Amino acid sequence: MARLAQTHGLTDVQQEILSTVRDFVDKEIIPVATELEHRDEYPQDIVDGLKELGVFGLMIPEEYGGLGESLLTYALCVEEIARGWMSVSGIINTHFIVAYMLKQHGTQEQKDTFLPRMAAGEVRGAFSMSEPALGSDVSAITSKAVKDGDEYVLNGQKMWLTNGGTSTLVAVLVRSDEGHPEGSAPHKSMTTFLVEKEPGFGEVRPGLTIPGKIDKMGYKGVDTTELIMDGLRIPANRVLGGVTGRGFYQMMDGVEVGRVNVAARGCGVAQRAFELGVSYAQQRQTFGKPIAQHQAIQFKLAEMATKVEAAHAMMVNAARKKDSGERNDLEAGMAKYLASEYCKEVVEDAFRIHGGYGFSKEYEIERLYREAPMLLIGEGTAEIQKMIIGRRLLEEYRFQG
Ligand SMILES: Cc1cc2nc3c(=O)[nH]c(=O)nc-3n(C[C@H](O)[C@H](O)[C@H](O)COP(=O)(O)OP(=O)(O)OC[C@H]3O[C@@H](n4cnc5c(N)ncnc54)[C@H](O)[C@@H]3O)c2cc1C
Repeated sequence: MARLAQTHGLTDVQQEILSTVRDFVDKEIIPVATELEHRDEYPQDIVDGLKELGVFGLMIPEEYGGLGESLLTYALCVEEIARGWMSVSGIINTHFIVAYMLKQHGTQEQKDTFLPRMAAGEVRGAFSMSEPALGSDVSAITSKAVKDGDEYVLNGQKMWLTNGGTSTLVAVLVRSDEGHPEGSAPHKSMTTFLVEKEPGFGEVRPGLTIPGKIDKMGYKGVDTTELIMDGLRIPANRVLGGVTGRGFYQMMDGVEVGRVNVAARGCGVAQRAFELGVSYAQQRQTFGKPIAQHQAIQFKLAEMATKVEAAHAMMVNAARKKDSGERNDLEAGMAKYLASEYCKEVVEDAFRIHGGYGFSKEYEIERLYREAPMLLIGEGTAEIQKMIIGRRLLEEYRFQG
């Protein structure tokens, strides 16, 4: 039988990496994921194992100690990892975005300082745009940096930092009016600061507090936090790229690859939900036969499998477009939108196939049901993706009359 979500045209190296990661997921993640998730426990052994496999440095260039792999390889690994447990892919995702932003926009000194340690998983990245009063509308950021000699003084509150506690390097987007007079476009007056800190909670650096973990409905294990800056002093050489006013553009570039990543997570969770559904449907009997033999259930399985295939194809397309050096915001937006919506639907169908048992914490689908909604929100909601897609369509199909 042809398995779902196959990717054609992979190199031998890509296939080897993927099969190693898949093996790790089947042996080390799936058997423990649900138990750790119920305890909201950080999966330290799994993280250590992924470090050893080199996953933290997958896309970091070889000259900095990484594997120098493509976005496609990375996304396919993320898909596998999310199939095992979505939270683990969340631990890697912000790290990957920060490493990508450093690689693309960092000064040579910043790359030399951080990338080798990030490739080894010694320095772990988080990224922070959202604030208590905003998520979609990044241009409304109020956290601020003011220059004081060779340093900047940062004040403000940030919200929803994935890996806020466990990370040691946070890329923080704030408003910096220096050189950009009052009234200049918000996008030109934002700067990304590379903020180093101790892992943990409380005051992790003078002027910087990580209050504690936000209690969430799902996506447990990985820590999500606030971040409070109160007179936080950052040296000028920790402005990403060395120039202020480029932060919005740098973050949007990071989020664009992050969107392929979230699409990959949607694909992975949907695949797992399908696997659970198709297996349960052949074991549960009603009216004298396995429920898989009822046409209504077979139709459900057919719809689920079709969605898994479609989402995978769009995710791969978006990753390949970026790898070819082309702009991929349209493809990434479409892939993220479709994969997260389909993921939610496939998980819901697998849940229904499980009948009452789907509601029991003993069954893995219960966890997936609480995890899928996060993908509808993270890296931009469905409405934000549709705004990006719509804008691009009007550019491409401009009326010529
Ligand atoms: C578990 C978790 C982890 C996260 N991790 C991070 C992280 O690591 N770093 C980070 O910076 N952020 C992170 N976020 C924040 C996330 O990116 C935001 O929650 C998301 O962008 C949505 O922003 P919001 O919650 O402020 O919703 P809002 O922007 O307030 O939107 C509310 C609703 O209004 C809709 N809406 C908003 N504007 C429009 C419009 N113009 N037209 C139509 N509809 C609109 C939205 O689609 C949504 O349905 C995380 C969030 C969660 C839940």
